[in-house]
Amino acid sequence: MSIRLKTLLTGVVASVAAAGSALAAYPERPITMIVPFAAGGPTDTVARIVGEHMSKTLGQTVVIENVTGAGGTTGITRGAQAAPDGYTIMMGHMGTHGAAPALYPNLKYDPTTDFTPIGLAAGTPIIIVTKKDFAAKDLKEFIAKMKAEGPKLNEGNAGVGSVSHTTCTLLTSQLGIKTARVTYKGTGPMINDLVGGQIDFGCDQIVSVAPQIKAGTIRALAIATPERSPALPDVPTTKEAGMPDYQVSAWNAVFGPKALPADIAAKLNDALVKALDDENTRKRLLDLGGTIADKPGRSQAALQKLVESEVARWTPVLKAAGISAAVNPAGATSGATPPPAAAPAPAAAPAQK
Ligand code: ASP
Repeated sequence: MSIRLKTLLTGVVASVAAAGSALAAYPERPITMIVPFAAGGPTDTVARIVGEHMSKTLGQTVVIENVTGAGGTTGITRGAQAAPDGYTIMMGHMGTHGAAPALYPNLKYDPTTDFTPIGLAAGTPIIIVTKKDFAAKDLKEFIAKMKAEGPKLNEGNAGVGSVSHTTCTLLTSQLGIKTARVTYKGTGPMINDLVGGQIDFGCDQIVSVAPQIKAGTIRALAIATPERSPALPDVPTTKEAGMPDYQVSAWNAVFGPKALPADIAAKLNDALVKALDDENTRKRLLDLGGTIADKPGRSQAALQKLVESEVARWTPVLKAAGISAAVNPAGATSGATPPPAAAPAPAAAPAQK
């Protein structure tokens, strides 16, 4: 063997060994988890709860970084473009990885191809909530008031394509009305304004509204799932309360940028699965009304399938509703009236274990 070839081979062996030991050592420093909405909302809440336990398993802190804007797509774009080294991951949801492609013609990522799925963190049923002294005590009165005064009522949401925007769009389009929309950087600040009475109502994921509903600082009209939530047993379902076709549920899940090395992705999935097996972590999520997927539902493959089915589920509904971030940019307040949209088929709600 020539000296040149020998040197070359030694170099290759050394770099393969270095790559191997880098993987074995991962993670050697804190991991950033991008949350594409403001602190205090459901995405942030789920990220902090699972991130805390993932830190213990990984032996490194999972640091939450809130990167807000454009209905969550700003933070997710940053996450998609991060180096695929396992040090930047993100908490996406039904909006960023299901609804966004139909609403953002210039979206810089494809939820189905530009990520490494890590795993589903929680299922999050949708609840219709109002300020506590809103002049409608139940869903039927709310519907009547919406039909009579819709454009005067302030609906809060977290930007075009967010879960709150998408699910309230479904609600108002089923009622054939328009409302005055007020956009926030996340539903954490939106719920603060609902508590303060600055806005009238919103549609949000259960995990950030459950404590306020229990405390009586806001009012829940109905939960849009077939069954009541064990966390809020007094809140009727939309079917019980008079709007049976309004069925919608959301979810939060962890993603890495595409081309994350398989061993690193598997380590992150293992840390997430362990978090969801941990008694205290489970209790915290379940007490807030979140649901936890069974073991097969927490796999990387299951999340990839969910994303593909969510994009397919929401795209026709939102296109039919005629809304787009191109004409209704996130950050704007608008009263756009989408035509009535059909309810999409029920989400593949993660089974509760
Ligand atoms: N629930 C929010 C949404 O409407 C986002 C958040 O603050 O987590 O998408």
